[in-house]
Formats: sequence, structure tokens, C-alpha cells
Amino acid sequence: MTVSGPMGPVSAKGTGRPCSEPVTAGGPVSRRAPTPRQEARTSVEISVARKRLEEMRDDLSRSIAVLRGEHPLARGGGAEAGDAGANLSEADRNQASVELATAQRAEVLAALVRVDDGSYGRCVDCGNPVPDARLEARPATSRCVPCQSKRDRRRR
Ligand SMILES: [Zn+2]
Repeated sequence: MTVSGPMGPVSAKGTGRPCSEPVTAGGPVSRRAPTPRQEARTSVEISVARKRLEEMRDDLSRSIAVLRGEHPLARGGGAEAGDAGANLSEADRNQASVELATAQRAEVLAALVRVDDGSYGRCVDCGNPVPDARLEARPATSRCVPCQSKRDRRRR
């Protein structure tokens, strides 16, 4: 038997998408079931994070280059004026900035590696997902707050 609609016979295995086909009440309800997943991040969030991390890496690389280039005194060059003390402390500060930026860049690079291997967004110590807010504030972070503070305490 042929089922004919008002617009002609509807081919059940037609390739075209039925755009205005009335859904019968008893039909299979296509429910968009929110599948509970344990994945920490979606691929969209990951790509956003990757972009941010890459920007951070580039920024840090740039500032390291600037810091290194701007103050030749930091490399141990002699001070000519009687301002040696001031220059020295400035060089020290500069050196500290370079070290900080280098450490931050290492953190960012490590985070990019975790983006690639799929472990980004999880605490490297306990394996729990790092809260979004924390990742927002510190995209390069590798630990949840409790683990980080534990570690900071140990370091001191
Ligand atoms: Zn943790």
C-alpha cells in the first residue's frame, strides 16, 4: 500500500531531508539526552585554551627578548658612573624578571604539551579536573588549588 500525503507520496528511504514532515505523536521521540560525560573539557574549550596559551607563549618570548636586550648591564657589564648601586639593583630586578618570564613560559609550554596529549585541564598531582575559573585566570596552571597550595607550602 502506498501512503500518500497531500504533497504526493512520501518516499520513506528518500535521500532528501523531510523538512516539513509532521511528527506523529507516537513516533520515536528524538530526545537530546544530555549524556553525562566525564570529559573535563570540550574540544572548543581546548582550542580556546590552546590559542590563549600560544598567545601567552609568544608574549613571554617577546618580553624575555626585550628584557634581555634592553639591559646589557644584566649580563655583567661594568657600570661607568657612580650609579653602580642603582644599576646593579636594576640589573638584579631585570634578571629576576627574565627568570620569572622564563619560568612562566616553561609553564605555558608544558600546558601546551598537555593540550596535545589530552590531559590539559586536569591536575597533574591528583588527576581531578581543574575548575574552569582557575583555568580562566591561569590557563597555564597544572594543578588544582589544594594541590598547588600543598606544593607551595612544601617549597618554602
Ligand atoms: Zn590536584
